[in-house]
Amino acid sequence: MKILCVLYDNPKKGMPKKYPLSKLPVIKKYPDGQTLPTPKGRDFKPGTLLGCVSGELGLRKFLQKNGHKLVVTSDKDGKGCRADKELKDADIVISQPFWPYYLTREKMESAPNLKYAITAGIGSDHVDLQAAMDHNIDVYEVTYCNSRSVAEHIVMMIISLVRDYHNQHAIVNRGGWNIADAVHRSYDVEGMHIGTVAAGRIGLDALRKMKPFGVHLHYFDKHRLPKSVEKELNLKFHSSVESLVKVCDVVTINCPLHPETENLFDKKMISKMKKGAYIVNTARGKICNKQAIAAALKSGQLSGYAGDVWFPQPAPNDHIWRKMPHHGMTPHTSGTSLSAQTRYADGVREILECIFSRKQVRKEYTIVRNGELAGTGKHSYTKGNATGGSKEAARYKKR
Ligand code: NAD
Repeated sequence: MKILCVLYDNPKKGMPKKYPLSKLPVIKKYPDGQTLPTPKGRDFKPGTLLGCVSGELGLRKFLQKNGHKLVVTSDKDGKGCRADKELKDADIVISQPFWPYYLTREKMESAPNLKYAITAGIGSDHVDLQAAMDHNIDVYEVTYCNSRSVAEHIVMMIISLVRDYHNQHAIVNRGGWNIADAVHRSYDVEGMHIGTVAAGRIGLDALRKMKPFGVHLHYFDKHRLPKSVEKELNLKFHSSVESLVKVCDVVTINCPLHPETENLFDKKMISKMKKGAYIVNTARGKICNKQAIAAALKSGQLSGYAGDVWFPQPAPNDHIWRKMPHHGMTPHTSGTSLSAQTRYADGVREILECIFSRKQVRKEYTIVRNGELAGTGKHSYTKGNATGGSKEAARYKKR
């Protein structure tokens, strides 16, 4: 089989010769009891860069030994890009949400052999899922591989926004010491109302991690959590997003991007939020209307916005979120710490081993199978397409 793997660029100065830590902590199970990925083998050192082109997700040896052809590239956007050329006779595409290869209907239709799209991470909205269903292309992702990594990032972002860390850090970097400038927007999170839109693997973990800060917790989800969990966290369920945003000081967004959630936080929804609230969105950029977010930060309707997800990715150099006030944006990094890379590289290998030996891939990893949403896809997504507009990613110029 031919496997096309689209990964982010190598570090500008080349692959690291050494890393800060020589070993990763050992984690045996996820909180719901699911095991970590269990491939039959591993050809990389845990804790090294695997998500960039030279890292190759540690797959080359395994694939070549089994007679498959692996092509790895980061050139994924714009007319004539390498990924589009290589896609034409590929059987499997592997891509990542951090550097998404937008697999639109048109691209799928240029690839008659394509049978599988695998996400090295979580969130398969860069694949037109409706087109995948229509063309019988199975879609898999490595459920849970980086959910807890993202939850850590959410906590970091909530605390740093509310305390106004970015401004304080910038003052130090500029050589300054004006304490009043440093604290005139700085608060404690203790006592605040924190709510998540979606309490799946990430949302629930973020709530659990925030609990010790002495905050009030809220959630909205299409699927209600067990009563025991609501009790454990003293968690208030809301029957709509509107009801939740009305009372929360901080709203974190943790649902997948699909037709129901695209543009969910538009001007109207933001106007229903508590004045001066904060948003942390590590789910997907397109869930928030970019102009409406920037305008709300300017007017003071929002006090801060942070996250690591943009649309499209890479974000064009003039993307309005790069320059808006009171933001704490990072490039899409929360789910690709070195710890997470080890898990998603193992997970992709497990999925490939199943495909090659015609064994069923775990249902947790399944988004689309046999022309239908299935497994996690059925639980967390709705039919339809959310890849529209992705051509804009070609406007990004490397710096
Ligand atoms: P999950 O499948 O465990 O949880 C998703 C939850 O969203 C489910 O509980 C589902 O019921 C809920 N949901 C779906 N549609 C909804 C709607 N319209 N309204 C309210 N709730 C809705 O997935 P997860 O591991 O928690 O990941 C969630 C999303 O986070 C991913 O799909 C992806 O987009 C994003 N993510 C981002 C990164 C990153 O690096 N920034 C990494 C992993 C995942």
